[in-house]
Amino acid sequence: QNNVKRGSWTDEMFRQSMPKRETDAHKGIHGRGLVVGGNTEMPGSIAMTAKTALRAGAGLITAGTTEKVIPVAASHCMEATYLKLGETNGNLNDDTAISFKSFDAVALGMGMGRQQVTGNLVRQTVEEATCPLIVDADGLYHLKPLLDLVSNRKGPSIITPHPGEMAMLLDVSVPELLVKPFAYSKVFAEKYHVYVVLKGKFTIITTPSGKQSVNRTGNAGLAKGGSGDVLSGIILAMVMQKQSVFEALCNACFVHGKSADKLVAEEHSVYDLMASDVIDGIAEVYRTLE
Ligand code: AMP
Ligand code: MG
Repeated sequence: QNNVKRGSWTDEMFRQSMPKRETDAHKGIHGRGLVVGGNTEMPGSIAMTAKTALRAGAGLITAGTTEKVIPVAASHCMEATYLKLGETNGNLNDDTAISFKSFDAVALGMGMGRQQVTGNLVRQTVEEATCPLIVDADGLYHLKPLLDLVSNRKGPSIITPHPGEMAMLLDVSVPELLVKPFAYSKVFAEKYHVYVVLKGKFTIITTPSGKQSVNRTGNAGLAKGGSGDVLSGIILAMVMQKQSVFEALCNACFVHGKSADKLVAEEHSVYDLMASDVIDGIAEVYRTLE
C-alpha cells in the first residue's frame, strides 16, 4: 500500500497538463480517432467508446464495426461516422482494407469477441497502423500471440488490461499478479515496449521505459460492465490532444474516476451508477477543473 501513495496523479497535475482549447480551433485539430470493435452479441461497447471519445474532446470519431452493429451504435452516438468492416457470422474479420493513415489514433478490441477471424483484424491493425494504438478487452486476447510485432511498431502501443487480462498476457494467476502489480507491469512494458494501464481500484500506469504513476480517483460504482469501454474512449481522446502519452493516460484515468466520484457524491450511488452515467459526468469534471 505504500507504493500506492508514491507518484499519485493529482488535480494539480491534471490542470497543468491538460491542453487549453484554442479559440480559433477546428475539429481537425482535436484529432481524428478510429474505434474498431463490436460484434452481433456486443453492439453497445463500441458505441460507448465512440461517444465517450467525443465527450472527452476528440474532434472526429469513426467507428469501424459490422453491418448489423452500425445502426445500433449510430442510434446511441449520432456524432460519429461509421465504417462497415468485413465480417464472418457476425464477427469482424480482416477482409476490408482500412486506411489507417486517415487517423491520428486507433482504439481496438471493445466488444469484438474472441473468434479466430477477428484475430486477423487485430494482426492487420498492429501491422499497418503507425499512429498511437490502444488495445482493450478482447483485443488483448488476440494481441497475446502478436506481442513481438507490437514491440516493433512505429507508434506508441497502449494496453488497458484489468487484472484478469493482464494475468492472461503474463501467464500468471491473478493473485500472483496482484502481489507485485508494479513489478509485473514494468517488466511487461519494458519487454514489449508498450504503455500498460493496469486497471483496478488503483490503476497503475507504466511507460515503456518503466516510469510509473498511480491513479486514485474512482469508486466501486465503476465495477460494472461498460466502465472499461468508457475509459478506452477517454484515452483515445486524450492521446490525440497535445500532451505526452504518459500525461494523456494519467489524465484519462483521472477524469474517468473523477467523473464517477462526482456522480456518486452528488446524484448517484455505487449501486446504481452505470457506464453511460460516467460518460455524462465528464462534463462536470471538465467544468470544475478548467
Ligand atoms: P473493465 O474491467 O475493463 O470494465 O474496467 C473497469 C474500469 O473501472 C477500470 O477503469 C477500473 O479501474 C475501474 N474500476 C473498477 N472497479 C473499481 C473500484 N472498485 N474502484 C475504482 N475503480 C474501479
Ligand atoms: Mg474491459
